[in-house]
Amino acid sequence: MIYIGVFILGLLVGSFLNVVICRLGTKESIVWGRSHCPHCEKKLSAGELIPVLSYLIQRGKCRHCQKKISIQYLFVEIATALIFILILWTAQMRGGVMADWKLILAIVRDWIFASFLAVIFIYDLKKQLILDRVTVPAMIIALIINLVLGISIFNLLFGALIAFGFFFLQFAISRGKWIGGGDLRFGIMMGLMLGWSSTLVALFLAYVIGAIFSLGLIAGKKEKMDSHIAFGTFLSIGTIIALLFGPQIVNWYLNLSL
Ligand SMILES: [Zn+2]
Repeated sequence: MIYIGVFILGLLVGSFLNVVICRLGTKESIVWGRSHCPHCEKKLSAGELIPVLSYLIQRGKCRHCQKKISIQYLFVEIATALIFILILWTAQMRGGVMADWKLILAIVRDWIFASFLAVIFIYDLKKQLILDRVTVPAMIIALIINLVLGISIFNLLFGALIAFGFFFLQFAISRGKWIGGGDLRFGIMMGLMLGWSSTLVALFLAYVIGAIFSLGLIAGKKEKMDSHIAFGTFLSIGTIIALLFGPQIVNWYLNLSL
């Protein structure tokens, strides 16, 4: 029962994230104001704002101008809902008492982190840009909640230093060609979200997934060797997986090497 509730919550949050993604690059207020069709600007009624259902009923088209609505809307809603459920599930797997306020806060924290990461994932995919408007608030929220949860400040700062240092090295070597300032800020955010050990996991995963994907594209001749592939997208995937399974992956690795 709780899973259905969390799924619906995830759909609603995903629907909100779509609005945020659309308005990030514009001067529109991110939170306030009724959504409108990006093509004909017609304001949407409450019936057109229901996650997933509106999209399916209208068959992916605007009711007024009949232009296609991007599949991104559907994808973000469903992906957010699934990630929300996974976060709840892995938190329960780690074994904890649901009545414990720390476990509940940790789950809510991960939902918030996943929401920020989903926005960065899509925005970087579309515009090849990681905005400070997203990473800076995420850094502050991550620091506050993790400190409230009793995670040591040294752990968090060390994580931020590892990711930032690793990116900065590449930034310096390539003179800003491989890595941009947005990636550096992402590194700080990542460390503050995950702490140092899971940050290592996230970095490793991001590079492995990025490399596999790039090789696939090059093999398919869709991408040239030197073309830019949105790095923030892979960093977001790595960070979400580390958020979900970081401690397990670290334990598994430590047992393996003993
Ligand atoms: Zn329209």
